[in-house]
Amino acid sequence: MKWVFKPAGAVPWPVRNQDAFFPVHNLYCVGRNYKDHAREMGGDPDRGTPFFFQKPADALLAPGESLQYPAGTSDLQHEVELVVALGKSGYNIQEANAENLIFGYGSGVDLTRRDQQSKEYKSGRPWFRGKVFSGSAALSEIVPKMDCPDVKDMEIKLEVNEDLRQRTNCSDLIWSVPEIISFLSQDIPLAAGDLIYTGTPSGVGKLVQGDIVKANLNSLVSLSFKVT
Ligand code: MN
Repeated sequence: MKWVFKPAGAVPWPVRNQDAFFPVHNLYCVGRNYKDHAREMGGDPDRGTPFFFQKPADALLAPGESLQYPAGTSDLQHEVELVVALGKSGYNIQEANAENLIFGYGSGVDLTRRDQQSKEYKSGRPWFRGKVFSGSAALSEIVPKMDCPDVKDMEIKLEVNEDLRQRTNCSDLIWSVPEIISFLSQDIPLAAGDLIYTGTPSGVGKLVQGDIVKANLNSLVSLSFKVT
């Protein structure tokens, strides 16, 4: 095939202990997937239907990069999340088969302009400016599934300047990883290279310039960045 110009292609992401890169395709995010966070946002913590939003892959903040404090906010907030990396494609996936799509996991931070998101929420508009800006999806290296424990034995935590802000066991997810994959894949074919940010527990909070943010997935992998 001939292109009128060279296509952008996938965003390359490091994989722990491998020299081959994971090719990032789409980024999906789950809203309110821990009861304590749903309550802290003034929402209903009961299990309704999961809801999703997206960030473009160009919003990823690579390991080792600093986050430039974004314009248009005075309330930049952190949300630590378990990130699922898909290694296979699928459409209309049954929960029982969802596990087969998973390549691995990472530790991520869904960065949010909370003041913008609140405005959008109140006006009934999409969470675009609230959720999408350069560097708004931080992600560690990806750890292949075979090197990870079960999701029920995973813990994610986030520290700001070595102060613990968020910590949860991933067994507390309202919607499990297979349920999320199954739900999403009813609407849109999922592709190898897709990333799913699975939602944040309580303890979301403000970041300011100079903060050092560290997010861990067990002792498996961590990511750290400075807000500049
Ligand atoms: Mn989030």
